[in-house]
Amino acid sequence: MHSLVEALLKHKGNKFFFVSPEGLEIPDYIKEKIPVDAIVEAHSLEDVLPEVDVLYMTRIQKERFANPDEYAMFADACILDNEKLKGAKKDMIILHPLPIDKEILFEVDDDPRAAYFKQVKYGMYARMALIYTLLNKPFVKGYEREGVVAEGITAKCQNPKCVTNNANVQSAKWLFTDEARTVCRCEYCDWILKNE
Ligand SMILES: [Zn+2]
Repeated sequence: MHSLVEALLKHKGNKFFFVSPEGLEIPDYIKEKIPVDAIVEAHSLEDVLPEVDVLYMTRIQKERFANPDEYAMFADACILDNEKLKGAKKDMIILHPLPIDKEILFEVDDDPRAAYFKQVKYGMYARMALIYTLLNKPFVKGYEREGVVAEGITAKCQNPKCVTNNANVQSAKWLFTDEARTVCRCEYCDWILKNE
């Protein structure tokens, strides 16, 4: 969060709304970097949601609370659910670095404003580009996993750790990665589909 503030400060005109449970406010040494008229602090999401364009959520640091009751009391106002989202802009963007603990309810995943799965995917491409640059490789525009979509194959990915076998992510997509179209790989984890 701290480095994100630094990055956003490079662009003029941003307004920062910091929402945190009492006791977990943004530290002064971060606030000092931001113009005073560009900071709003609140203890409840509902107080600021109507105004924000991008909502960047992070995990609530449970370990900072003395006891679970205190955590439950303060954290509730900072948990995002569909009810609170009713007060937000229709084109707001919801980001989160993942993994999500309890601060965003599952029901929010289906909201068109939820962009955190896309964010993780783009983060992967950004890291690929960084590694490429560090290795002095020529930049490859429009990277895509090579292959042809295997239409009609609806099998589940057989890799138990594949993201497609996890919670509410879209189902597996298979790609033929060889010319003869005999090798079919999971688009997400590269697992080779075997006939069982
Ligand atoms: Zn897979």
